[in-house]
Amino acid sequence: MTADYNPYCTFCRIARHEEPGDFLYEDDRMVVIRNLLRWVPVMLLAIPRRHMSQEDLWHDMDHIARVAAEMGARHCPSGFRLLSNFGPDAMQSQSHGHLHIIGGTYLGPYA
Ligand SMILES: [Zn+2]
Repeated sequence: MTADYNPYCTFCRIARHEEPGDFLYEDDRMVVIRNLLRWVPVMLLAIPRRHMSQEDLWHDMDHIARVAAEMGARHCPSGFRLLSNFGPDAMQSQSHGHLHIIGGTYLGPYA
């Protein structure tokens, strides 16, 4: 085990194909998978291969942000959101940093 990999972390294991995932994008630094949740038509997760916190991910966001924006534009041409949840009040469920790409429908309050 290295500091970059935690065998008890679901996202570390998915990024190494040790757990199943619906992979839409992969490169040497990150993956994009479909979220198991289906609250809106498009719910994707952009996940760095290295185990890191949300804070560390957001301190060095260049590559993952660019790919996430491209995936959002491709899968949600009418608009999308990119976001991360920090901590229990925001319902962060995985310690491994990640970006949500959500869309595929109107995301306003009167949908
Ligand atoms: Zn991890």
